[in-house]
Amino acid sequence: MVGGPDLAVKTFSCTQCGLCCRNVHLAEETRFLDRGNGACRHYNEAQKLCTIYSHRPDICRVDRQYELNYSKQYSWDEFVDLNLQVCHILGQTESQAL
Ligand code: SF4
Repeated sequence: MVGGPDLAVKTFSCTQCGLCCRNVHLAEETRFLDRGNGACRHYNEAQKLCTIYSHRPDICRVDRQYELNYSKQYSWDEFVDLNLQVCHILGQTESQAL
């Protein structure tokens, strides 16, 4: 069967914390988005929103990244868990920096 992940199984529960969008400098794949302070040039800090959300690049789309690069290595649930682990690490890093 061709297609994306079965979202009925598990969805990527983004809390819109903005940590990934404020730390694009940390990954080679997202560094091109850096506005110069580590945050994405498309991130609106005040509203905590992506200003190009419907047109955001593939690297910002969890489901698209899964289809393109990770579906042979991981199940969808495993991939979601890996992404959530990165969210957790970013959260820990930020709280330690405060
Ligand atoms: S393009 Fe949008 S979703 Fe991607 S890092 Fe920038 S603000 Fe975040």
